[in-house]
Amino acid sequence: MNILILGSGGREHAFAWKIAQSTLCDNLFVAPGNAGTALVAVNIPVSYNDFDGVAKAALEHNIELIIVGPEEPLVNGIVDYFESRADLSKIKLIGPNKAGAQLEGSKDFSKNFMQKYGIPTASSKTFTADSLAIGLEYLETLPLPIVLKADGLAAGKGVIIAEKHAEAVEAFNEMLVDGKFGAAGNKVVVEQFLKGIELSVFVLTDGENYKILPEAKDYKRIGENDTGLNTGGMGAVSPVSFADSNFLRKVEEKVVKPTLHGLNSEGIKYVGFIFIGLMNIKGEPYVIEYNVRMGDPETEVVLPRIQSDFAMLMASTAKGTLNDFDIKISPQVAVTTVLVSGGYPGDYEKGKVITGSEKVEDVQLFHAGTTFNGNTEVVTNGGRVMAMTGMANSLENAVHKSQRAAQVIQYEGKYFRHDIGMDLIRYND
Ligand code: AMP
Repeated sequence: MNILILGSGGREHAFAWKIAQSTLCDNLFVAPGNAGTALVAVNIPVSYNDFDGVAKAALEHNIELIIVGPEEPLVNGIVDYFESRADLSKIKLIGPNKAGAQLEGSKDFSKNFMQKYGIPTASSKTFTADSLAIGLEYLETLPLPIVLKADGLAAGKGVIIAEKHAEAVEAFNEMLVDGKFGAAGNKVVVEQFLKGIELSVFVLTDGENYKILPEAKDYKRIGENDTGLNTGGMGAVSPVSFADSNFLRKVEEKVVKPTLHGLNSEGIKYVGFIFIGLMNIKGEPYVIEYNVRMGDPETEVVLPRIQSDFAMLMASTAKGTLNDFDIKISPQVAVTTVLVSGGYPGDYEKGKVITGSEKVEDVQLFHAGTTFNGNTEVVTNGGRVMAMTGMANSLENAVHKSQRAAQVIQYEGKYFRHDIGMDLIRYND
C-alpha cells in the first residue's frame, strides 16, 4: 500500500517514522514534510491546503491512504473534496469530513454539541456583534478569571483567560468589534473557568468502532513552571500518572461514548482521530475542547508507546474494521522535549545550521521546523525545531534521556524547557 501523510511538523515525522516500520506500506510520501520525514519517506513539495495539488500527487503516486496531520485542511473540507471526485474514490482519508471537523472548527458548535449530548464541560454563552451590549453586561456578572474563545480556528491564539473584568471587556471588543481574528472571531464563546489538572485523551474511530490511544499531558507555556506565553507545545508526557484507570473509565463512559453517539445521531460519519482536551476536577472529567486530529507534541509520546503495526491500524480504520484490531500499548513512559528557535513564540530567525543529530543517543528524534540548505546542511525552518522522545521504565529516566538529547543538539538561539515531566515526578512523590 502507498501512503501519503499531510503536514510538516513533529507529529507528521512521528507518523512517518512509525509507518515506515510497517511491511504493509510499500511507498511512503509526506507533503510537504521536513528534513526528518525525508529520512524515512519521500517529501512532495505540495501544500496540504492545495487540494487539487494533493489530489494530483495522490494519483501520480498511486496513493491508497492519506493521513491528514493538521486541522486546517479538515476544517476546509479535504475529505469532502476527495469524496466529491469520482477519480479519487479509491483513496481513503484518515480524518473527518467538514461536518465532523466542526468539533474543532467551531467552538460554538462543539459547546452546543456537548450540551445536547450531556457531555460534561464548562457552562458557556455565545455572543456575536449583534449581542455585544448583552455580552458586555454578562461579562460584568461573571467571577474571575473569565475564559473567552474565538469561535473559529485562530492558530492556537484564540483563547483568552482574563484575570480582570477590564481585560475580558478588551478581548471581547477586540474580537467582535475590531475583528482581531477575522471571521474566526465573529462569534465569541464566554466560558466558566475550570480549575483542575489538564490532560488529553486520544480516540481513533472508523465511524462505528473506536480505540482509546494512550493519554498524554502537554506543556503549553514557553517558560519553566508554566509561565509566559502560550506556544504550540514545549513537551509532553505519556502516560499521565494522575489519570488512573478509574478516571479513564469515567472518560470513556461520560465523554467518549456520548461523543461518538452524538456524532452518529447528527448523521456525521467520523473517521479519524478525536483529541479530547480534558480537565480532571477532583477525579471527574470535563471537556475543554475537541480537536479533530492528533496533538503535536503529544503524538511524539503517544506513537512510540503503540506497539501494534501503525499502518495496519490506519488501514483498518479506513476499512471500518477497527473492532477486530488488537491494539498493543507499551507500559513504558515516554517524555518529549521540544527545542525551539530563540524568540519563539514571538519573532524568530530561520536558517540556523543544526548540528549534533548524529551524536544523539537513546531517544527518538523527531524533526518539526527543519529543512535542507543545499544537499547536506539541515537548518531551522520554524518556531518549533525538533522533539526528543526518551522512553524508559520510569518517568525519571525518560525525562533524563529526553533532556540529555536536548543538550546535545546545537544551533544558534536554541531554547528548551528543563522541567518537562518534573511536575509529574513531584506528583508521584
Ligand atoms: P483550547 O484552545 O480551548 O484548548 O484552550 C487553550 C487552553 O486554554 C487550554 O489548553 C486550557 O489550558 C485553557 N482553557 C481553555 N478553556 C478553559 C476553561 N474553561 N477553564 C480553564 N482553562 C481553560
